[in-house]
This record gives sequence, C-alpha cells and structure tokens, in this order.
Amino acid sequence: MAERKNIIYIYCKHDKESLDKKSKVEEVLHQEGFSMTESHEDANIIISLGNDGSFLQAVRKTGFRQDCLYAGITLNNKPGFYCDFDYNNVSKMLHLIRHAELKVRQYPLIEVKIDEHQPFYCLNEFSIRSNIIRMFTLDILIDDTLFETFLGDGVIVSTPTGSTAYNKSVGGAVVDPMLPCFQVTELASVNTNTFRTLGSPFIMSGTRKLKLRVHQDGNDFPSMAADNEALGIRRVENVEIQLSSKKIKTVKLKDNSFWEKVARIYL
Ligand code: NAP
Repeated sequence: MAERKNIIYIYCKHDKESLDKKSKVEEVLHQEGFSMTESHEDANIIISLGNDGSFLQAVRKTGFRQDCLYAGITLNNKPGFYCDFDYNNVSKMLHLIRHAELKVRQYPLIEVKIDEHQPFYCLNEFSIRSNIIRMFTLDILIDDTLFETFLGDGVIVSTPTGSTAYNKSVGGAVVDPMLPCFQVTELASVNTNTFRTLGSPFIMSGTRKLKLRVHQDGNDFPSMAADNEALGIRRVENVEIQLSSKKIKTVKLKDNSFWEKVARIYL
C-alpha cells in the first residue's frame, strides 16, 4: 500500500452529525497528505463512517468493488464486525495505511439471481420471507436435486461474515470467514407428515448451487432483502444462490481477528 497513491472516498449517512464528522475526518486525512474524492470510482480506499449497517451500504452503493480496500470507522466507540477503527482514533488507521502494517482480509460474498433479473451480491445475507400473514412454500434444491420442501415464514442464506447477524438470531452457526461456504437457516418451518424439513441450519460448500423454487400458489410475492436493502421485485419463481468469486477486501489488524471480534461482541 505504501508505494501506491491512496485516494480515499468516505461514505456516510446524510444526517448532520455524520456529515460533520465526515468533514472532520476529511480534514485530518487532508492534513496528513491523503487525497480525497467525492466520486467512489476514483478511489482505491473506501471508508464507511457509521456502524456495520453503514459498512454494508458503503459496499453496496459502491458496487462491491474488487480493486479497492474497504475500511469501517465507528462513530460511537462501539466496535462492529466490519468496523475496525474508531472515529476518535483515525490516526491509528492512517499509520497502518502508511506503513503497510496491515494485512488484507477477504470476505466471501454470495451471488443471488432472481428469475431473469440481473444477479446481485450480498455481504451479510439474502433473506426471503412471506409478505403476508400466510406461510409460503419453497422447494429447496441443492445442485439441482430436490433437498426439501419448506412451508413456513422463510429462509435466510448467509455468508460467513453474515453468520453473526440475522443468521445467528435464528439459531445459525457462527462461521469462520476463512471458509468458502454459505449457510441456510429456516424461519419458523412447519414440520408435519406432509411437510418435512431438516429443521436445523446447514452449511454448504462454496462449490454448490442452491435453488429456491417458490410454489406459485397465490403467495408467491414474498419480501426479499439483500443485506439491509429491501428488493423491489414483487413476484418470484426461482432464486439461484452461489458463492461469488468476488470478495470484499478489508483491513486485517493485529489482535482483531474474526474470533476475537466474536468474543468481544458476544461473550
Ligand atoms: P439494523 O436493523 O439497524 O441493525 C441490525 C443489527 O445487526 C445492528 O446491531 C448491526 O450492528 C448488526 N449487524 C449488522 N451486520 C452484522 C454482522 N455481520 N454481524 C453481527 N452483527 C451485525 O440494520 P442494519 O444495521 O442496517 O444491519 C442490517 C442487518 O441486520 C441485516 O443484514 C441482517 O443481518 C440484520 N438483521 C437482523 C435481524 C435479527 O437479528 N432479528 C433482523 C433483520 C435484520 P451495528 O450496530 O454495528 O450496525
């Protein structure tokens, strides 16, 4: 990193507090000789200012860039899973960028394709849930072979870094991001003699393909989300999910491994 000219783009919410803090960070960066840009296409470092939700948005709004490094700065002194730096200690981040003391860690993404729509990526998870009070039915296929037929509220397909988020709240396992895989968790499945699902979360190798086939029975317009963004697609038949070859590159700090973060945040 030291040899290369670093051009920084900062993503944050547009409320006054965030914008004021953005100006302050920019001022420090400027004084330290860094170049800033208002156009993320010109940057090779993208910083999100906010919480993990802001980091997810920063990555999404800048198009899951493969040729740049992402870093998250928290504003409330509360460490997040994606935010390694604190607003009150920006100089530490600069030191690391300058002196190449950082290693790059790479977070897996999943790629999701809904019917004929353009594929998109998720850093945390893709979720599909019934939009109305009724349950809905899904065939779940692994590598084009029917695995189970699900009746219930929905399913979540999470990445390893997303495993500590929504997935964890519904009993999914926390997964090491060094494993190229993705996980499927159920939301309130019905298990009777007619409908039977595994009933436990399952983790799939990144070489496999998952397909969700929504039964066209009148409740075929579930609500779907990619991380913290609701999708505008109303009717759905097939959702294909696989591990992407793309990864998000972010900063790896000493004493801040994924498992150290898990321990710090949850234990
Ligand atoms: P939010 O509803 O405002 O907050 C969701 C919470 O999840 C925040 O505390 C956030 O941490 C945390 N979070 C986000 N990504 C995480 C990760 N990878 N590991 C551990 N915690 C994580 O929404 P948001 O901040 O925009 O985040 C969107 C995420 O919320 C979704 O991707 C989904 O995973 C999660 N979610 C969880 C549930 C649930 O657990 N019942 C329901 C819906 C959505 P920060 O405080 O650092 O932002």
